[in-house]
Amino acid sequence: MYVPSNPIVCEAEGNVMAERYQNYVNGSWSDGSSGAVSTSTNPADLSDVVGEFQASTSADAAAAIDAAHDVKESWRRTSSLARGGYLLKAASYLEANLEEFAQMVTRECGKAILESRGEIGRAVALLQYYGVEGSNPVGSVVPSVNPNILLYTNRMPLGVVSLITPWNFPFAIPIWKMAPALVYGNTIVLKPASATPGVATLIARMWEAVDLPAGVFNLITGSGATVGNELITNDKVAAISFTGSTRIGMNIAAESAKRGKRYQLEMGGKNPVIVLPDADLEQAAEITVSGAMKYSGQKCTATSRAIVVGNIMEEFTNLVVEKTNALKIGAGSDPQSIIVPVIDQASKDNIASMIARGVADGGSILAGGGVPSGNGFDKGTYVEPTVINNVASDAFVACEEIFGPVLSILSAADAEDALNIANSVEYGLSAGIFTKDLNSVLDFADRIEAGVVKINGETAGLEPQVPFGGMKSSSSGDREQGKAAIEFFTQTKTI
Ligand code: NAP
Repeated sequence: MYVPSNPIVCEAEGNVMAERYQNYVNGSWSDGSSGAVSTSTNPADLSDVVGEFQASTSADAAAAIDAAHDVKESWRRTSSLARGGYLLKAASYLEANLEEFAQMVTRECGKAILESRGEIGRAVALLQYYGVEGSNPVGSVVPSVNPNILLYTNRMPLGVVSLITPWNFPFAIPIWKMAPALVYGNTIVLKPASATPGVATLIARMWEAVDLPAGVFNLITGSGATVGNELITNDKVAAISFTGSTRIGMNIAAESAKRGKRYQLEMGGKNPVIVLPDADLEQAAEITVSGAMKYSGQKCTATSRAIVVGNIMEEFTNLVVEKTNALKIGAGSDPQSIIVPVIDQASKDNIASMIARGVADGGSILAGGGVPSGNGFDKGTYVEPTVINNVASDAFVACEEIFGPVLSILSAADAEDALNIANSVEYGLSAGIFTKDLNSVLDFADRIEAGVVKINGETAGLEPQVPFGGMKSSSSGDREQGKAAIEFFTQTKTI
């Protein structure tokens, strides 16, 4: 079992040993001022305590912000090539430690080990991409009406940026925010989700290992209500980049707007695929099940609704059910597992109540619907992969994010009806269509209300060098990743 080497104190907790981790502020590891700690556990085995983490206070968060604020000018005046150099060194460090870090991701958030390796690999790619970005041009020279005037623009960093991140991609999401933030000259304070502070500790270890100057990156663990609130409201914070639920995100938008702070929000989804009668049904069912069920549906871009047009319903549904029933349920440490435990008991209970509500609203369970038994499943937070049909398009289960391995199959009269159903929810993150007809593809790509569009492909997953984000209640502010990240993390100065 992997336990990160940094830092700290071992303490007996019941009959297991829990590591105790510290905050990383101003280049040093330190305890929170209250002395209180919280724990994170392995979703596949709730008796496995990953570690104890600082339950930091608002004052601790303010101290981390002060540290970032104190060095913002020196970091801004470090050349962008040198800043990029730290990212490239971090990418090499990460490559050398990929397996160790992936094991920790699997242990703390339950993810299948192949996907955890993929997540660390993505972080390597992001650090390389933005490391090179440090040597790319920023700004431009623009002709002036006066030949004696040099008229140009430059991109300036914002200052201190707060990063507030979720548990489902506990390594890649912080990296895809901090890599552009740092290379464009900002200093940062990261508050990770309370479920995955151990993975965040590894991020701090990485920056320590490559000698990033003290105060440029700071990690502070603790609850959203305390630490998160300070990271949003503190006067020294210029901007907030948040990924998480729509409910919390909308509150951050309101608080940021009140204080004139810049914000970027990536939030929930209810991602549809449309299956047209001419689709390759075997392929459509395979990809739909993969998009809905991998990582137990805990991706913001997971497929949640399959909207089926015409007389293919029975054949498509049978294929989906057959493929769903064949998925292996098990701990993420087993490379064969597809259905891994969900993040915690509260999430498991929430998924069960969403399924029950779907049934109460007239839905029929075609696969799963309960929790698996035997095989030590009672040690963790497992939920069966579930397929529901006969669901009305405006039923709660068909409109609200579930964040579990649950697929609703909906019926549409024709392509137009399917598009209307797809667009009828408040979210607009990712969407797909299965068809061989080019006109249908182009019409869908034009009219679907989603920030990511897939053609005969899985709604989940996007390469890191392209912009990522959603429409409607799924996102607010500038896109993340690729070249687009410069828009959020810099401001233009015209000279
Ligand atoms: P969450 O409950 O909204 O939490 C996200 C982060 O916000 C955590 O660090 C949380 O801290 C913090 N937080 C909670 N209350 C806060 C407050 N009052 N002020 C400031 N920060 C606060 O979301 P989650 O359960 O971790 O993640 C799942 C959600 O993320 C899903 O809705 C999913 O769709 C979304 N997501 C979206 C994307 C995307 O790119 N669109 C990607 C991944 C996930 P605590 O953990 O301490 O509460």
